[in-house]
Parts: sequence; C-alpha cells; structure tokens
Amino acid sequence: MQKLVLASNSAGKVREFTALFAPLGITVIPQGDLGIAAAEEPYFTFVENALKKARHASKESNLPALADDSGICITALGGRPGVRSARYAGDEASDANNNAKVIAELRGITDRRAHYVCALVFIRHALDPEPVIVQTQWHGEFMDVPRGNAGFGYDPHFFIPALDKTAAELDPAEKNNISHRGQALRQLLAILSP
Ligand code: IMP
Repeated sequence: MQKLVLASNSAGKVREFTALFAPLGITVIPQGDLGIAAAEEPYFTFVENALKKARHASKESNLPALADDSGICITALGGRPGVRSARYAGDEASDANNNAKVIAELRGITDRRAHYVCALVFIRHALDPEPVIVQTQWHGEFMDVPRGNAGFGYDPHFFIPALDKTAAELDPAEKNNISHRGQALRQLLAILSP
C-alpha cells in the first residue's frame, strides 16, 4: 500500500494522520481532494458510522480507506450524546450549546462519569470482508464549570481526576498521549505495521 484515502476533511485529522503514516511510506489523501462528498452517518454506534464512511470513500476512490468516528458518552445519560456529540443541541449547535445541554441534563445528578470514544476503521478495498477495527475509550468526569482554553468540543468540561486537569488544560502532545484518538491511532498502526 502506497496511499490511502482519509474519509474526513478536518484539517487537524489530515495533519495528524499524514504525520503518523509518513514513516510507513503511506501517503494520506483527504477524500475532498478527490471530489468525494462526506457520507451520511445514520447509525447509533461509532463503529457502524466509521465503517460506512470508510466503505464510501474506498468505493469512490478505488483506494484503501481510513475513517474515524468519535464522541463523548455520559454514563448517567445512557451513553448520550454518543454519535450525536457534534450536533447534540441541534444541527447548527455550537460547542457551547452542546455543553449547556449536557449541563442541564445532569442537573441534580451526582454520577458524573463520562468517557470519550474513538472508533477507527481501515479497509483495503470497498468489499473487504475483514475491516481492521479499533475502538478506544478515555475516561473522566463531566464537570459543570469549564476550565482551560486548549482542545475543542467538550474538553473544558472533561475532567481527569488523576491529573487534576480538564482536557482543555492539557497541551496537544499531552492530550495525544492519553486521548481516545491517540490510543486508537497507536493501536491501528501496531496492527498495520509489519
Ligand atoms: P468527530 O470525530 O470530529 O466527528 O467528533 C465528533 C464530536 O465529538 C466532536 O464534534 C466533539 O463534539 C466530540 N469530540 C470528539 N473527540 C473530542 C475531543 O477529543 N475533545 C472534545 N470533543 C470531542
């Protein structure tokens, strides 16, 4: 394999994945560069959505494909926001809107356990019967009062007791070392590397 298509156009993800695959001699091509539109994400699980995105990108490009899907799951909310994390408070919702909705739903609830999830799917071709799938979790607690300016999304409210910091108080390298996405990438590379 010399190149793969990435089923995402997020600049941050393209940068991260490009750097990680370069030492393996693999070029990462964002699907948008090939004129491929984003796939729908209709499912309730991260894995199903990631698999759908990877199949779509591979079918349209005739290349091996990599896709990820991620979000935050709050124990007392039965795993919500889950796959709806980006749009929890509505299709046009901002990070602040999404966090405000979680804060309101957790009012009066003492169980604050939360974890981020990242599902990564790699397929060699669109009909690959053996997709490589990894799914990782990063555990913490949802805190009403935000802290820190780094990161994005739910990070200012995602508190890691062992570090006495929120995810938004970690620098990017520190976050990558322990985050759901960092763990998933390392696991996938370990499987793909000879
Ligand atoms: P996606 O993987 O870019 O589709 O992320 C889905 C959504 O989950 C994001 O828009 C965020 O709301 C949330 N999310 C996923 N990973 C993180 C993270 O590392 N920090 C904060 N929010 C995250």
